[in-house]
This record gives sequence, C-alpha cells and structure tokens, in this order.
Amino acid sequence: MTDTRIPIYQPDLSGNEKAYVNECLDTSWISSRGRFVKEFEDRFAGFVGATHSASVCNGTVAMHLCLMALGIGPGDEVIVPTLTYVASVNAIAYTGATPVFVDSTRSTWQIDPDDVRRHVTPRTRAIMPVHLYGQACDMDALLAIANEHRLFVVEDCAEAIGTTYKGRHVGTFGDIAGFSFFGNKTVTTGEGGMVVSNDKTLIERARHLKGQGLAAHREYWHDVVGYNYRMTNIEAAIGLAQLERADEFIAAKRALAAQYVDQLAGLPVEFQGETADTEHSWWMFSILVERPDQRDALRAHLTQAGIETRPLFYPVHTMPMYAHNYRKHRVAEELAWRGINLPSWPGLQPEQVRRITSSIAAFYKTDGR
Ligand SMILES: *Cc1c(COP(=O)(O)O)cnc(C)c1O
Repeated sequence: MTDTRIPIYQPDLSGNEKAYVNECLDTSWISSRGRFVKEFEDRFAGFVGATHSASVCNGTVAMHLCLMALGIGPGDEVIVPTLTYVASVNAIAYTGATPVFVDSTRSTWQIDPDDVRRHVTPRTRAIMPVHLYGQACDMDALLAIANEHRLFVVEDCAEAIGTTYKGRHVGTFGDIAGFSFFGNKTVTTGEGGMVVSNDKTLIERARHLKGQGLAAHREYWHDVVGYNYRMTNIEAAIGLAQLERADEFIAAKRALAAQYVDQLAGLPVEFQGETADTEHSWWMFSILVERPDQRDALRAHLTQAGIETRPLFYPVHTMPMYAHNYRKHRVAEELAWRGINLPSWPGLQPEQVRRITSSIAAFYKTDGR
C-alpha cells in the first residue's frame, strides 16, 4: 500500500479562480447577474468557434435546453448511443421524446453511423452524437444521414472540451450543442454548463427557457412554462479563470495520454482509437482489458495500490428505466464490460503516471494473466 492516493480526477484551480470569486464576494454579485456570466459566455463561444452561447447550471440541463429549443417532445424519437453517461438520455426523456439506442464503433467507441441509419424512422427528429471521453464522432457520416432524412443534430460535448474534428471544435457541426463544467470536466465551474449554436434563434429560445420563460417585452410577464437553469456569477468567475488555462489543460492531457500509451505498450490492453481527422482531448484516458473478470481484478489491484479508477459507462439501455425495449448492442456492451478509466487530470505528474503503469504491468506479471 502506498502512502499517497491518486484520484481519478482533480481540478486545477491555481489560476485566477480565487481572485475572480473574491471579486464576486467583494462586490456582492453572487447570483446569476454580474460581469463574469457574459464574459464567460462570450469567451467560451470564442473558444469553440460558435457565434452564440447561453450559460446554464449544469450539463444535463444544457442538453435538455438544446432539445427544447428544437421543439422536440412527445411522439418524437431521438437517436442516441447507449454507451454514454445517463444524462444524455435523461435529457431526451425530460422532453417526453423517446430515446432510441444505437451501438458504438469498435475502434473509436463512438456512435456507429451505420447503426444510426438502421434506426431512422418517420418519427426520428434528431441524432445526438456524444463525443465520448474526448474523442470526436464521425461527423461527416452523421451529418450526411441527418441531411438525407432532415434530422436535427444535437451534439453532447460534455466530455469534449478541446476536441476537434477536421480542425474545427466539436459543438459547431450540428444545430446546437451542450457542454458540461462539472468538477471533473476539462474546464470546470463546480457545476455548470453551456449551450452553443451558430443559430441565433435557437440560442434565444434556450435563453428564454432558462430564465423562467420571461417575455422579451414586458417585465414579470411569462409566456411559456420555463425553467430556472441559470449559472451564477461565482460559477462563471471560476469558469473564466479555467478557460484562460484551457489550452494548457488540454495539452497536459494529451501529453498524459501519450505517456500512458507509451508505457502500457506490450501489455494486453487496448486504447480508444484516435482517428486521423480528429484531435482527441482525452477527457478520461481509458483502457480495455481482454475479459470482464480481468477488469474487476485489475481495478481491485489498482485500488490496493491507492489508484482510483472507474469502469466505462454502463450502456444506458441496460438500466431499469430504459430497459423496457431491451435489444442487444454488442459492441457497446463488450466495451463497457472491459473498459477502465484511468486517472486523467492535467496536474498528474510523470512519476504518478509511472506508478500507475507499473502497477498495471505488475498485475499482469504476478498473476500471469
Ligand atoms: C458530464 C456529462 C453530462 C452532464 O453534465 P452535468 O454537468 O454533470 O449535468 C452529459 N453528458 C455527458 C456525456 C457527460 O459526460
């Protein structure tokens, strides 16, 4: 047992976070008004290359607003990969639409365009690509399907800050996109999220809904059932300070992934493929072991060594609330039962990476697995 535990994630708040938060406290602008909200929104839109943005209180509601802004609701179907975080699917369920699960591709672990095509019906209104673990989906193939069937594309970019596809940041390919700033996301505000789009009307709808459906031309008059999905100035202050260092975080995570790949070479583990046209931002560096039972043994071995890991997401179609129309999604299930996320934060030191990879190597050596 080693003395120091290595957590799976830990945000780096050593920049201007404290100074900006103190400014909120000193000026008493602690709620959802104040200079940081607008500055963070503008700067974030600039960072991803979108023309419009609306900050919200978490990534889940960002996805909910994306769907609401498109008018998606009961009777509609939204195609979503089953291998995702449950929030992608919950956001669809909140609107009353039906999530239609599809499988993933073996190499990139992303939504499989061929399986998307097989699941388009007359009720399909949108496809939700999720750029899982920081790898980009095959946007050309998905946009082709969307154009052919006149579907919306709603990108879940919660795990993809810094991810590019053909040189462009993800979140700018579809009609509208959501980001998350949860504590373990690449840029964090504690809890927080953002809706981005190049369509002004869609962002205006998202803004309208996130602020209790306040009518534009009359004070305290509301013309739809809206929500309070606002971000606070304090959260935005943290976000702005984080964004100032986003490129540094992303570069550190890419370097980290390179160290993992290098040091784990030769062991019977596989990595998430990085395709030629994309830049992976490695939100969570992950490995696949050969068998599910080995996965649990390796995780237990790493826990013993003070190294925190996570299993890959459970495919959402296997969860009780979504299992009523259970079908097999072979690739997603296989990946999920064999995958492990390794510690992936930007401040992780080379000695710590070495300790993690040595521990994995020792697991294979000692047990002759
Ligand atoms: C984190 C995450 C979300 C939701 O974000 P929260 O800020 O935690 O609500 C949505 N989708 C995916 C894929 C995520 O990883």
